[in-house]
Amino acid sequence: MQKQLKTRISIIVLTFFAVVVTIVTSRVTSMARNLEVGRLVLSSSQIAGVLTNIRLILLVAMVLVGKKTGMIISYVLILISTVPMIIQMFFLQKWDGIPGLANTVCSVILIYVTYSFINNINHYNKILHLLSQQDPLTGMHNLTAVRDYIDKRIKAGKEFYISFLYIENFAQLNDMMGRDFGNSVLKSLAGRFIGSTVEGEYGGKNGDSEFVIVIDSSKENKDPVAERLEVDARVKQFIKQVKRPLIIENTEITLEPRAAIVRYPDDGGDINELYRHLDDTIAHYRNQAGAEVSFYDASVTNELTENGKIEDRLFKALSTDEIHLVFQPQYNLRTGKLRGFETLSRLEDEEGKSIRPDKFIQIAEKSNLIFRVDNWVLIHAIKRFKDVVKENPDLVISVNISANHLQKPGYAEFVLRTLKENEFPNKNLEIEITETVFASAIENVKAAMDKLRQNEVKVALDDFGTGYASLSYLSQLPVNLLKIDKSFVDKMHTSCEDMDFIKLIISMGHVLHAEVLAEGVESVEKKEALLEWGCDLVQGYLTGKPMEFEKAVEVIEKEKGSV
Ligand code: C2E
Ligand code: CA
Ligand code: CA
Repeated sequence: MQKQLKTRISIIVLTFFAVVVTIVTSRVTSMARNLEVGRLVLSSSQIAGVLTNIRLILLVAMVLVGKKTGMIISYVLILISTVPMIIQMFFLQKWDGIPGLANTVCSVILIYVTYSFINNINHYNKILHLLSQQDPLTGMHNLTAVRDYIDKRIKAGKEFYISFLYIENFAQLNDMMGRDFGNSVLKSLAGRFIGSTVEGEYGGKNGDSEFVIVIDSSKENKDPVAERLEVDARVKQFIKQVKRPLIIENTEITLEPRAAIVRYPDDGGDINELYRHLDDTIAHYRNQAGAEVSFYDASVTNELTENGKIEDRLFKALSTDEIHLVFQPQYNLRTGKLRGFETLSRLEDEEGKSIRPDKFIQIAEKSNLIFRVDNWVLIHAIKRFKDVVKENPDLVISVNISANHLQKPGYAEFVLRTLKENEFPNKNLEIEITETVFASAIENVKAAMDKLRQNEVKVALDDFGTGYASLSYLSQLPVNLLKIDKSFVDKMHTSCEDMDFIKLIISMGHVLHAEVLAEGVESVEKKEALLEWGCDLVQGYLTGKPMEFEKAVEVIEKEKGSV
């Protein structure tokens, strides 16, 4: 508004001066005598020439300021001053006005050239602005455009929701099928998005595979609960769009979209705070079953702060050797003999309260500290048991390693080197991996597993039945031991399906020449049923809880004494 006013005032001022100069010019021309300025004697045509040029500058300035309006005013002024000249020439046959007319034609051309030049600049500016607001891959509004839009809404005092919609399995898809394939997926999704937004909604692309939807808070709905339900339903419609199977390069794929939602002004006073809370919500609900659409609330940030504290604690504990190891015994079901121990980690917070292992392991996995934790556990378990296994050559000490670890180049070599340096026999170590290793980078996993197995290190598949392992993977990547997940053992006597599943795993394990261990066995009945179904090994509170190293040595000694 202010800019428009300034432009108008400038045009009026320039027009005024241009009119004055035009009038003075015609007067000077009609005087037809010399003018003395000090010692300088100027003819009237010379003065008129100077004034004509000044007027031209004013007219060009008018076009620059007023664009099309400036050009029209300039042409009107030129026309008004030229008409008497033309009349004189054609009706009074006074041809001395020809140079002036030529001058006028040049002015007309110059004004037009100036106008089309700035018009083009404006056009290119518009294109540049459009490009700077557009995602080059999908053509959707990009990060800057969405932020601008949100900023404008905040400044206008509007209330609205922002939803980040992300694809849980996108990274995996990109890794498996390649970046070009991933790009085609995003382009197809963008098509669905662009066609789906309605009035009061604004869609864009945020990060690599993240979409944003800004939804205006409805004016007529003053009930916050009802409004929230409306937004939830709307975002679920977007999710439904994304979930529709896509066919890319003749491959049908199904995406796993999820969404996080915040409300302005309730969940943040500015765009940065709103975005931070959206990221917190994503981090909190990522990989959580059933959390397809999640609204932000303060507990999300609190928990992340809590997790941050655990991460700091773990980081410190790694350098001060404050991680504590306990060992849970495993027994042979038929003979009742001790097979070995699974190494489990324990961590306490600063006040000495224990932190649940699955919690700090999960945090370690998210922050990549897991590699350090796994290596720490491996080295310390080996050091603790190296003398014990010399006396007990059949004892198996197992350690858990994170699925990502086996994919790291050089991991198998690291394990073998650690064993060698500590003179710990390879055959007494078992590495427990979970089925998630089969989800990606299978070639690296296979190479590491082959190397370990060739060197007599045992490999167990933990939590079997909960993940991705298929028979074809299992036949390619042979393991020594299948550990039936505790969740199946828990439901053993209540669900026939789970009983059948356990029986199936036992026979499958044997076909693959692997032993089968049941985890989490807490009752004699379960132990006996498992024995009857042909299960080989057992681990659970019934036969022994995780225990201190000294206690584990006692168990070993007692076992020897009873033989
Ligand atoms: P996991 O590897 O499946 O370990 C077995 C878990 O089941 C252990 O819990 C163990 O204490 C528990 N358990 C065993 N028998 C019974 C039973 O009869 N009843 C019940 N209720 N529980 C039983 P824990 O020690 O809390 O460990 C939880 C998970 O944390 C482990 O599951 C493993 O995934 C992870 N973890 C623990 N230590 C480490 C470690 O050093 N490295 C890695 N990467 N993960 C670890
Ligand atoms: Ca385990
Ligand atoms: Ca397990």
